[in-house]
Amino acid sequence: MHKSEITIAGDVPGIEYRLPVLAFEGSDADAPRVYMQAALHAEELPGTAALHFLVPMLQAAEARGDILGGITLVPRANPIGAGQYVNGGMEGRFDLGSRTNFNRDYPLIGLGERASLLEGIEALPAVEQLKRHLLHMASGADLMLDLHCDDESQLYAYLHEAYWPVAMDLAESMGLEAVLLSDGKSSAFEDAVTHIWANGGGADGRGHWADGRISLTMEFRGLADVDPVLGRMDAEGLYAFLQRRGAIAGEPIRREAFSGPVAGLDYVQMVDSPASGMVLFEREFGEVVEKGDHLATIVATPGDAEGDVRVLAPTDGTIVTRVTRRFVRRADNLMKIASSELSLAKRKKGGALED
Ligand SMILES: [Zn+2]
Repeated sequence: MHKSEITIAGDVPGIEYRLPVLAFEGSDADAPRVYMQAALHAEELPGTAALHFLVPMLQAAEARGDILGGITLVPRANPIGAGQYVNGGMEGRFDLGSRTNFNRDYPLIGLGERASLLEGIEALPAVEQLKRHLLHMASGADLMLDLHCDDESQLYAYLHEAYWPVAMDLAESMGLEAVLLSDGKSSAFEDAVTHIWANGGGADGRGHWADGRISLTMEFRGLADVDPVLGRMDAEGLYAFLQRRGAIAGEPIRREAFSGPVAGLDYVQMVDSPASGMVLFEREFGEVVEKGDHLATIVATPGDAEGDVRVLAPTDGTIVTRVTRRFVRRADNLMKIASSELSLAKRKKGGALED
């Protein structure tokens, strides 16, 4: 394993950020190259735990000569966000300086322009430098996994519809509980990587640009799902997936049948709160619900049940996520439900579900 650091100068004197990169060299030039990063939203650590437990597995594989495709890991991808504390809490989703989401506004370029990501990079703001370094590394791989998590959630993934159903091997290796298929039209990291491949990536003898490739966002359950049992299990899942794709030698041991919902983003019902107040959930994430089921009660006037507002399921489906907070404003999101019906809530066309 080769350890290195990318150094990014801060925007004012006296500040610099260091981005650790762990790399394993592959022995087979034809094997897929792998890039994985975690905690791009800096407080989302389940993926960091998975990579922490994956590293010794890869070191053992390296000692056996089993690493076939080059593997690059960035276990904590966002030192800028990790250092942003506001009133005692980490703000790792939005850059405070530019107010942009660390997982949005990536350059949408073609494969031929990939080298330009690093040209003149020193003149850019630190957050732009970070994004370009990450995108440059990721788009040089064939298998790109960006490891995030949701609030309270199932284990699910967002991926471009071109990778499905080939990515069933990932769903089975990881034990995914749901798959959400996107149209690739956002500026999120996974879509920016796909954009690069889809614009020039078919000219390298693959046929279709998606052949042998995958770029996805994995939502490793909820923010608090960080522990050694899950971390080791997820590391085993990642290892098995890399074996199935031929990046690591050996027979994959972890297989689970995938039986969860597969929904395009226009089939994800964002259940938003009709009122402001305390949230009393009636249903857990992972549960299958029917249209009209009682999902939650919003207590708008504590002590006066007259103010209670019942939130009903807008459709049949599976509850994939729930918000962590127990107080919401009107129109704040409460749940995501994967359904077989077109969503009633209008998504910004060609984009992500959330800001
Ligand atoms: Zn995230």
